[in-house]
Amino acid sequence: MSRCKVIAGNWKMNLDAAQGVELVEKLKSEFSGCASCCSCDRGPEVVVCPPFTTLPAVVAAAKGSRLKVGAQNIHWAEKGAFTGEISGAMLTTAGATHVIVGHSERRQYFGETDETVNKRLQAGLANGLTVIVCVGEQLLERVDGTTKAVVERQVRAALAGVDAAAMSKVIIAYEPVWAIGTGKVATTVEAQEVHAFIRALLKQIFVGSNVAETTRILYGGSMNPDNAAGLLAQKDIDGGLIGGASLKADQFAALIRAAH
Ligand code: PEP
Repeated sequence: MSRCKVIAGNWKMNLDAAQGVELVEKLKSEFSGCASCCSCDRGPEVVVCPPFTTLPAVVAAAKGSRLKVGAQNIHWAEKGAFTGEISGAMLTTAGATHVIVGHSERRQYFGETDETVNKRLQAGLANGLTVIVCVGEQLLERVDGTTKAVVERQVRAALAGVDAAAMSKVIIAYEPVWAIGTGKVATTVEAQEVHAFIRALLKQIFVGSNVAETTRILYGGSMNPDNAAGLLAQKDIDGGLIGGASLKADQFAALIRAAH
């Protein structure tokens, strides 16, 4: 089963509107010769996820290109007294088509739990967004040998109540926390082992469907042009969620090319 690869850039709290637009313009010029790839089945799906305030400017800059634009979080309520949060309608009105939920930085620094990740994922789906849901173990958990138990708990909780049909709009990102922003990348063997485990888990959760075969599972954690080819060549690695290297046009373009 061939799955269309995804290269998604998580800009985190970086780049103002002018810088975001400049980056998109550079990416567009890199790919001006293959604008049609966004709708054909050869090129990867490419997504950039800027901060909330720059979504409209980045969406406008990306218009007509292969780039899709996502947000970095979503709240489950439609509106109300939730200071600092953002609703699905606000994101779709701004032009977002994708949203990241459950990033380890949200889990580590902002009290995100398995339960709130599930609520945010459900909100993304209810608003017609494609949800990139992040899972991954911390360094101590890997050392303790509990990587699979942690990832299983996170995947099962994130997908609670999601039916097989809705899974066409869910992308899973396996991001070992110890590899995020550290320059330490999981080996191809380590990454492939967890990706295969997640796919097997999807088979158990969505019995009798083709969800396990069709769901894209991305690797995240210091992916860059030097290590991407090896990771992307793995059977169960369907692309990357990229932080640092997504902020530089030449590096992100090289990752898109590696996924072709
Ligand atoms: C991330 O934050 O999702 C990420 C993978 O970051 P980096 O590529 O910088 O490790």
